[in-house]
Amino acid sequence: MTTSEQLKKAVLVSFKTGIILPEILAVLAGIRPCLTCGLTKKQKELITRVFPELTIECKKETIANRQIMVCAISKEKQTAKQVINSFVVEKDPEKTGRLLGYPECCIRNHLYFFERNIQYQHPRIIHHSYKNSKKRNFLTNNLFNFSTRLKDKKDLKRQDKYLSSNKDYPFHPYYLQFISHIPCSYDCQESIKMGERIQLLLKEYAPDIEKVISFTLSKPVLFFDLFKWVILDGHIERNNILFYKKVIPPISLINFSLLNKIRRGNKIIADDNKIEIFKDNLLLYSYQKKDLTDGFVLDFK
Ligand SMILES: [Zn+2]
Repeated sequence: MTTSEQLKKAVLVSFKTGIILPEILAVLAGIRPCLTCGLTKKQKELITRVFPELTIECKKETIANRQIMVCAISKEKQTAKQVINSFVVEKDPEKTGRLLGYPECCIRNHLYFFERNIQYQHPRIIHHSYKNSKKRNFLTNNLFNFSTRLKDKKDLKRQDKYLSSNKDYPFHPYYLQFISHIPCSYDCQESIKMGERIQLLLKEYAPDIEKVISFTLSKPVLFFDLFKWVILDGHIERNNILFYKKVIPPISLINFSLLNKIRRGNKIIADDNKIEIFKDNLLLYSYQKKDLTDGFVLDFK
């Protein structure tokens, strides 16, 4: 089978396999050497049948009392084996990052947090990448694919709730990505290059899906935490005022009453101390932030 035929097939079957489409396309096209994911036995069998040229190496892992089959998928048997070993057995983020083909600058950035055991402080990590960027390129927006950033049982439950509350979304919400890793900044050149290549693949093989991904990732986000954020169809003007028309899906697990206030408004002003929601000039809600990272607007373009 040619690469082009493989890519076409991936678009047709990915929703049944549990693999995230941008990731499998990247592996099949040779942009990334390997991907990791959780699979059921049935899904693994299906992928093996559909893509006999791919190697899948799996190891059972217990995360918060839940047994998960963690798998590494690659065109190279040796790579898949090394990844699953380094990811599940050795738990070596530096080695795993390199084997997965992530940019060196982003691996070093991630290691900083990992070595200090603060890799689960997501608002801090995202705020750090945000502050590191002069511009925020939407190709590096990976805020909505957090399957590998979950800490415990509570997070797994939140993930279940998030996915089930967005079950009517046109595709798996984790498809909302061009890159899978946490970028060192949202203008990291290596990440942008990788994102561009994956966006091109999607444009060619799944144009309808690519349109929704690009549209969604390029919108401003009011971000609180992994499961608490709002994507807004709007734009930011010079003095950091976010003007918006509406909230766009997917919908996170953000507090319902706050979400309703945002839905009623059309303007958000967020600074280091507070967040204010307005309908024109009428103040609907004012929130005093606990710290700098407790709610901030990321202006992706
Ligand atoms: Zn980087």
